[in-house]
Amino acid sequence: MAIDFTLAPEYEEIRARVRAFVQKTVIPAVEGFGGEDPVSREEYLRTIFELRGKARAEGLWLPHMPKEWGGMGLGQVELAMVQAEAAKTRLGPWILNCSAPDEGNMHTLLHWGDEEQKEKYLRPLLEGRKMSCFAMTEPEVAGSDPTLIRTHAVQDGDEWVINGHKWFISNARRANFAILIAKTELDMPEGARGANTAFLVDLPQEGWNDVREVETMHGSTGHSEIVITDLRLPASQILGGRGNGHRLGQYRLGPARLAHCMRWISQAETALDMMVDRALNRYSHGSLLADKQGVQWLIADSAMELYQCKLMVLHAASKIDKGEDFRTEVSMAKHFVANSLNRIIDRAIQVHGALGYSTDTPLANMFQHARWARFADGADEIHQMRIAERTIAAYRATGSTAVATGNLPL
Ligand SMILES: Cc1cc2nc3c(=O)[nH]c(=O)nc-3n(C[C@H](O)[C@H](O)[C@H](O)COP(=O)(O)OP(=O)(O)OC[C@H]3O[C@@H](n4cnc5c(N)ncnc54)[C@H](O)[C@@H]3O)c2cc1C
Repeated sequence: MAIDFTLAPEYEEIRARVRAFVQKTVIPAVEGFGGEDPVSREEYLRTIFELRGKARAEGLWLPHMPKEWGGMGLGQVELAMVQAEAAKTRLGPWILNCSAPDEGNMHTLLHWGDEEQKEKYLRPLLEGRKMSCFAMTEPEVAGSDPTLIRTHAVQDGDEWVINGHKWFISNARRANFAILIAKTELDMPEGARGANTAFLVDLPQEGWNDVREVETMHGSTGHSEIVITDLRLPASQILGGRGNGHRLGQYRLGPARLAHCMRWISQAETALDMMVDRALNRYSHGSLLADKQGVQWLIADSAMELYQCKLMVLHAASKIDKGEDFRTEVSMAKHFVANSLNRIIDRAIQVHGALGYSTDTPLANMFQHARWARFADGADEIHQMRIAERTIAAYRATGSTAVATGNLPL
């Protein structure tokens, strides 16, 4: 059994370069964006596109994509450290062109697209010339169960006519195309997995109406509500074959969920760093907060959780790299890291007191952003349901739950 958590020297070098780029180039360029004197939209765009150009020139571009497609060709384990370094600032993954939803859409197009679709949609996405969105969730039915979606496509000669309603579609206003999930097999019973089909929709497009950006608790938005009315598409716009929409969505979500975890770990670490820093600098009742047992427990709990987060992500990543079934490990990681992120930021706010509640530190904003992690890309309870199902199945099949707890040799 080989367990070695050290990075090979060539990956250590990449990690050092990403860290230096994010700390010395990205953070100084973007730190004023959300401040008291916000920059104009033009300046914001100019700055981040310049940063993207620099990242690409330095070879810090598309860490999750194979080299033959212009990427860095990293496995999931190495990707974990690049995503975590990049996510030290929220725009970091976007500047390295490895952020949601484009990142998941790239995997999807690479795996499911035909050659023409790859050239038309994947190539410009990889080159940073286009942006995309993924449209599955609907306000009327539970997003947790995509077999319920009502947006439907009906064949009319060589075309499909699509009607429906989507919401929380991230990046829709900036996207040049959407991967849209619609029901094509209207007679299938509820819960059938072969009823949905994915379509590629060029944007803007007649019939695709972006009616508003939904205001959220994290203030700034970017998540659109879309009304789809008689949107017509040729059959060649189907992605991955008719009836494969559910499988395609699930395929997309595996690595994409883990990539979220890699970025959340970075945010959780920032919160823990801030918690310790504050504890070392705040004095009360005769000693520093760092000397108080009550505060030490908050620090210790956070450190232990963050350690578990990192091990879970690395193990799930190694399973993906080895081509093993990773579904349970990714579910466990997604649930655990999302909840740890919320708990660690909350503890950091507690240690900061009123300062933590203010918007003078990034913690309040981080907390608002972190909340969606517990239900998007699979709500906590859905992951718990799947983890329990697989644990029970493992016991039934083998008389032991061992394979459902990482299938580790202990
Ligand atoms: C910031 C953000 C960005 C998003 N971006 C996108 C995007 O780009 N594209 C897209 O298509 N969607 C996107 N979504 C939507 C997201 O995927 C859904 O919110 C998620 O799938 C949950 O669906 P829902 O909101 O309809 O909640 P529901 O499915 O209604 O679930 C609500 C709650 O009910 C409980 N629940 C549901 N089912 C079960 C069950 N079987 N057992 C036990 N409890 C259950 C859970 O507690 C769950 O949190 C985004 C959401 C957010 C917040």
